Amino acid sequence: MSRVEQQQKGYFGSFGGSYVPEVLQPALNKLEQAFEQYREDPEFVQELHYYQKEYIGRENPLYLAKQLTKQLGGGKIYLKREDLNHTGAHKINNVMGQVLLAKRMGLKRVVAETGAGQHGVATATACALFGLDCVVYMGEKDMQRQALNVFRMELLGAKVVAAKTGNRTLKEAVDEALMDYATNHADTFYVLGSAVGPHPYPTIVKHFQSVIGVEARAQHLMKEGRLPDYVVACVGGGSNAIGLFAPFFADSEVKMIGVEPAGKGIETGLHAAPLSHGAPGVIHGFRCYVMTNEQGEPADTYSIAAGLDYPGVGPEHSYYREIGRAKYVSVTDAEALEAFTLLSKTEGIIPALESAHAIAYAIQLAKQLTPEQSLIVNLSGRGDKDVQQVFEFISK
Ligand SMILES: *Cc1c(COP(=O)(O)O)cnc(C)c1O
Repeated sequence: MSRVEQQQKGYFGSFGGSYVPEVLQPALNKLEQAFEQYREDPEFVQELHYYQKEYIGRENPLYLAKQLTKQLGGGKIYLKREDLNHTGAHKINNVMGQVLLAKRMGLKRVVAETGAGQHGVATATACALFGLDCVVYMGEKDMQRQALNVFRMELLGAKVVAAKTGNRTLKEAVDEALMDYATNHADTFYVLGSAVGPHPYPTIVKHFQSVIGVEARAQHLMKEGRLPDYVVACVGGGSNAIGLFAPFFADSEVKMIGVEPAGKGIETGLHAAPLSHGAPGVIHGFRCYVMTNEQGEPADTYSIAAGLDYPGVGPEHSYYREIGRAKYVSVTDAEALEAFTLLSKTEGIIPALESAHAIAYAIQLAKQLTPEQSLIVNLSGRGDKDVQQVFEFISK
């Protein structure tokens, strides 16, 4: 491969790449090589498929939300039911792929970072299944806020290590996990939780999450005899969205809409919407749209949905935005809460607060469509984890 190609690897337009300390690059190179070796390997593909079916419970339904559609009186709303996966969200799709890759590479130890704990729990689950040592880094503050998820991970046999520097949240947990990986990559695999980070992670995560869009596309064709007019998903780091979107990339008639959290309102500054209201920059080892303040420095983020509360976003979404292939919009806490309640009442499905952002936009959109048109919205996770928080919020 020529020099130029080498440098362009891992870029989506001008986004992505690998901006990491030199000590980390050999580990990433080794990972890329293994991924390229196994991604199409028939035995690997067969093993992944086995666990997708028998353990995660795929394929999950593409469910026509008939009541909700009827109530809104517009286009058909289909829900891709990632909430029905084992562990209750899409994250396990990616974790299963990465942990099987770790096994192929002969690595016995896994590290991961986690914010609210969802990715940590998914990683601890897969490590329990395959008997791998699992260390999850978590901000000390997050450990206090999410004590139950800490207990879940411990129950699954993982060791949860507190990141005690700085704000003691996700960023510090990422730093510590990367440091561990740089030191221990001879026997350790770093399971990254979203379509972010240095190359090859965004490509790996997209690959393992694309099962969402591949299934949804075939299911919609089967049910409607045509492709959907829109695909809609919430965007934190962007893994559930890229998993749904990427298999529709070449279908130019299918419009893609990513929904970011507007928090308490864009004008308050309390949001986490880098694609709609950020600027290009480098964060956590890759180039993407980043939340910045008036001085152009990294800004604090906020969302009612912990899984969407991230200052950067996947490089491929940054590229989709740049070339206009996808559109990115934002939805406030209040709008997401309304959708959370509406889907619960009309369909008997309590969505994750993250997914409720996508539902909220889908509701607005469906009203503008004709009954012959349809959209697919990714129900990235179930809301059981959020019921307490919503209860406290509504009680106030
Ligand atoms: C983590 C999470 C998200 C956000 O992560 P992405 O990488 O943007 O998909 C969305 N929904 C649920 C249910 C999550 O747990």
